[in-house]
Amino acid sequence: MNYPSPVQLFNTLTRTLQPFRTIRENEVGLYACGPTVYDYAHIGNLRTYLFVDVLTRVLRLNGYQVKHVMNITDVGHLVSDDDSGEDKMEKGARKQGKSAWEIARYFEQVFFTDLHQLNIDLPSQVCRATEHIEEQIAFVRELQEKGFTYRTSDGIYFDTEKLANYGELAKLDKKGLASGIRVEMAEKKLPTDFALWKFSGEQQRQMEWPSPWGIGFPGWHIECSAMAEKYLGKRFDIHVGGEDHIPIHHTNEIAQCEAKNGHIQANFWLHGYFLQLSNEKISKSGTSMRLESLLQQSYTPLAYRYLTLTAHYRSHLNFTWQGLSGAQTALNRMRRRLADLPEGGQVDAAFRERFIVLVNRDLNMPQALALAWQVFDSDISLEDKRATLLYFDRVFGLQLERNEEIIVPAQVQVLADKRLALKQQGRYQEADKLRDEIVALGYQVNDVGNHTTTLQRR
Ligand code: AMP
Ligand code: ZN
Repeated sequence: MNYPSPVQLFNTLTRTLQPFRTIRENEVGLYACGPTVYDYAHIGNLRTYLFVDVLTRVLRLNGYQVKHVMNITDVGHLVSDDDSGEDKMEKGARKQGKSAWEIARYFEQVFFTDLHQLNIDLPSQVCRATEHIEEQIAFVRELQEKGFTYRTSDGIYFDTEKLANYGELAKLDKKGLASGIRVEMAEKKLPTDFALWKFSGEQQRQMEWPSPWGIGFPGWHIECSAMAEKYLGKRFDIHVGGEDHIPIHHTNEIAQCEAKNGHIQANFWLHGYFLQLSNEKISKSGTSMRLESLLQQSYTPLAYRYLTLTAHYRSHLNFTWQGLSGAQTALNRMRRRLADLPEGGQVDAAFRERFIVLVNRDLNMPQALALAWQVFDSDISLEDKRATLLYFDRVFGLQLERNEEIIVPAQVQVLADKRLALKQQGRYQEADKLRDEIVALGYQVNDVGNHTTTLQRR
């Protein structure tokens, strides 16, 4: 098939929308930073993996084979990204009264269950930091041989002074940093220097390994560089993660690869913007919300997937229950309308072209969703509508053919019960206020006499 437009992606390195070209023909090497498995993933983390999933689906739609590698951070990510504080795994283990190994495997498994529920395709290669210690040590040793490291009493550090273009990704101002932001310096020479290997020292650690420098554990950034190189080579096409990775994690990955290999590690660097709760950041340690929390309110996982498609990956998305309820209503409606369409049609060429133009332009999913609604209302044949929408769904991943019973969210049911009770007590004004709230959540209230209320999607 001839593609009406090439894939264009916004590259954080250049801050521009660039035509996507691969190193090897028709094959994409993609590395996605994976979860730190000391706690449950929150719906913000999951937004980033949904973005990566849409990216791989769009690339595959364009005929690329995608080699997608994702790590599991099961050691070495310290409480603060600037190498200070405790290892999140050890801290999480203490908090939960289990071993660091136990919680690592448990939260990893829950994470994959979440991905499955969200219909996220599994990466072709998943790799754990703890199973690649040798590769990380070899990486650090090479940096040491090339003169990019120094030793302090608590570890081996990367000397950012030695790399002229350090911090290009984040447009970091090294001088400004030196005098400005608060970074735990300890014996670091520059605030931007970062740990490659940390010594266990006096601490009682559960996860530690011998190394040429002493017993300890790898720094967080080195795991991604070492594993990416092992599975994708010294140079590959795309590296992705959340926006928080720009100033530290990805900046440091770029630095250590450039120091070791003499060139940039990946050609494209893509970043998913954060999901926020009432305009606050969501974090595992602070305000948190899991996929499970949404299911408990009777929303389906794919309603959350739909919600994330309504915002571009490069804009913040503010999570509200009302927004999720709207997404659930829209998804149910889309499935119901699709169920009424007969099989046997063909993908409509004009709609396919418009769809590809949208998704290929830096994954414009909000407009691609809007186009799907236009297909329903268009004058193409019913059979072709179905075929066209199922073609779109290869990227949406909404399982539009799935026929799920429409569940009334618990939140709506509670409001309806309260309203009925108020009505029975003759408190009509208060009851009407609750009716308005229910309507705002996307439901219509039908009274059957004075004793029963039924709820229906609007
Ligand atoms: P972590 O488990 O903390 O290593 O994070 C896993 C992924 O989630 C990383 O790519 C982060 O950049 C990303 N992430 C963290 N918080 C959010 C958020 N609120 N919204 C979207 N992505 C996030
Ligand atoms: Zn990473």
